[in-house]
Parts: sequence; structure tokens; C-alpha cells
Amino acid sequence: MAERSIPLIDHRQLAARPAVPVHAAQPSGLLSDRRGRALHDLRISVTDRCNFRCSYCMPKEVFDKDHRFLPHSELLSFEETTRLARLFTLHGVRKIRLTGGEPLLRKNLEILVGQLASLRTPDGEPLDLTLTTNASLLARKAAVLKAAGLQRVTVSLDALDDTVFRRMNDVDFPVADVLTGIEAAIAAGLAPIKVNMVVKRGTNDQEIVPMARFFREQFGGQVVLRFIEYMDVGITNGWRMDEVLPSAQVVQRLHEVFPLRALEPTAPGETAERWGYADGRGEIGVISSVTHAFCGDCNRARLSTEGKLYLCLFAQRGHDLRALLRDPAAYDDRQIAAAIGQIWQGRDDRYSELRGSAAGAEAAAAKVEMSYIGG
Ligand code: SF4
Repeated sequence: MAERSIPLIDHRQLAARPAVPVHAAQPSGLLSDRRGRALHDLRISVTDRCNFRCSYCMPKEVFDKDHRFLPHSELLSFEETTRLARLFTLHGVRKIRLTGGEPLLRKNLEILVGQLASLRTPDGEPLDLTLTTNASLLARKAAVLKAAGLQRVTVSLDALDDTVFRRMNDVDFPVADVLTGIEAAIAAGLAPIKVNMVVKRGTNDQEIVPMARFFREQFGGQVVLRFIEYMDVGITNGWRMDEVLPSAQVVQRLHEVFPLRALEPTAPGETAERWGYADGRGEIGVISSVTHAFCGDCNRARLSTEGKLYLCLFAQRGHDLRALLRDPAAYDDRQIAAAIGQIWQGRDDRYSELRGSAAGAEAAAAKVEMSYIGG
């Protein structure tokens, strides 16, 4: 394979210090951005480390033994993370997803889960608290996370065949152990489990039907399998459009074996298009950021592990909320909440709609890495 040069941008250094409005109004909970999109989901990356090296997210040739991961002192503490999460709920956040890197690598994560689970929305409701993991540590952690207040998990699994799985995640980790993690999560009461498969044409697309067959037969409705179009996240994964298998073709392939029927979305801003098995044995989903952009109702914000706020998965620049948290001026909740509100109100992101255009090409040159802000 021809050598490819990989431009590196250390986004950890590129973040604007948010302005704190002079008159910090009390959040109304009705915040919307410049496209009228509300703020509903907050994805929190709790570590930039991972024990896998998935080629589409954290290619080994970049994230190698010399890669400098963030020292612990730079990470937000659990208390800082919970404080920010609480302020985001004042602006309308109702769902929190913990991500990474691999979130289960963060020590004592159940303590953070417990703190987040104790949060309430302004109307006194609990938050929808979920987590995305490669399940390598799930068998050990499922029960304690559930007991701490986690409600659901999403597991990333790109193949059933160990050789193909290794080709996608570039480490020697057996599929069987991921499946054991899924079983432990079901036993702990975290079902239904979502299983996300990134489809890379020419690498693992032959696994689409075997994955569907396996999860239908072994787990029925307890697992919802979702197929994700391979995305040009970050600038290091060597993305090429000819390696994208459009979701329409994924659905077609499955429909030929297991007839499908379209289902309604379950929530506004849902990224997955739902398809039910005509025989009633569960459903699948497809997430089509490349061929069917869903920026129109994107209600997601992302927090990096050291407190930088990103307004899009393909953003170029973050907003350093940690600087406000740790500022000797000791900004109060209302001031920091007002700063967050001001950032969201200025949001205009829609990278997936711009992909392939001149504006998209410009934005593409300096995108943040997904492993740093979570998928
Ligand atoms: S490209 Fe950005 S704005 Fe569009 S759906 Fe994805 S995260 Fe949202």
C-alpha cells in the first residue's frame, strides 16, 4: 500500500476562551442555535485513550507508542464534569452519552455515572444516561455501572469474524469477549443494547448479513444492530468516498435476505433511520452521515475530556470551558451557563451538508479527531 502523508493538527491547543456575558441571564431552557436547533444531547468524552486502534477513528500509524495522550491533571475531574453537565441541563440537555476514546478505561467511571445519575432537569426529571464502548471491559463493569445509574449502552462491533474484526480495529481482541460483554450488559439490565457496526466497503461489508443473522437469532429484540456509513471524521483516517457503502445498499442487501419495513423515528434529532424485520423479530438502523446528512435537526454538543466544547463532530475549533471553571475569578454557575448559551446561539455547523462543496473542503482540512471528542 502506498505511503500516505498524514497532516497532524493538535486540537488540544486550538480552542477559544469563551467570553462571559456581562449580564448573565438565567437560562430559559429554550436555547436554539442560528438554525433554530435546540440543545438536547451532550456527549462527554471522559478519556482520549483507547485500547483499540480502529482504522477509521484512531489509526495505529498516528496514535502510536509516541503519541502523547493527555496527562490526568489536564482532564476534567468528575466534579467539574458534573458541574458542566448540570449547567447544560439548564439549557435543555436531557440526554448524556459518555464516550472516549474508550470510556471504560477511565478509572472509577461508576463514580461519575453516579454523580450524573443524580442530576435532574429543571422539571425534576432524571436524565437519559447512556455510554458508548468497545465492550472490551464491559463484562467486568456492566453491573457496577448499572447500579450507579447507567440506563443503556451502545457497543461498537464491526465484524463477527475475528480476522475481519482485527482488520478494522487493528488489535488482537477476540469477538467472543465483546459478545460476553454484551451478554453481561443484558444480564445487568442495560437492554436493549445498541450495537454499532461501521461499514467500510471492501473491508467488512461482507459481514453485514452474518451480523444481522447472528443478532436476530442469538439476541432477538434485546439488541438493535445499526450500520454506520464510514465517515471522514478527523484528518488522519485516510477516508475515501469509494470505501463508503451507502446505507441504501446496506438496507437492500438485508432486505433480500430478511424483508424489512420502514419504522418511524423514536425521538427528534435521532441519527438512525429505523427498519423493522417484517417477521417482527426486532429492528435495525442505518446512520447515513455521508449520503443522507441529518444536520437539520442536529441537537448534539460534545465535550472533550479536558473540557472543550465542540458544536459538531467535524468541528475545527472548540471552546475552552475548563478555562472558566479553573479561572481564579471563580465564575459562578450563572456566568458559565451564560457563556455556554452564547456559544450555542452562535452555532451554525452543518458539515455533512457541506461535504464535497468548496466550503466543505475548507472545513475538512482541520477537523477535530473523533477519538478526542467521542463519536
Ligand atoms: S455534521 Fe455536525 S451538524 Fe451535521 S449532524 Fe453531524 S454533528 Fe450535527
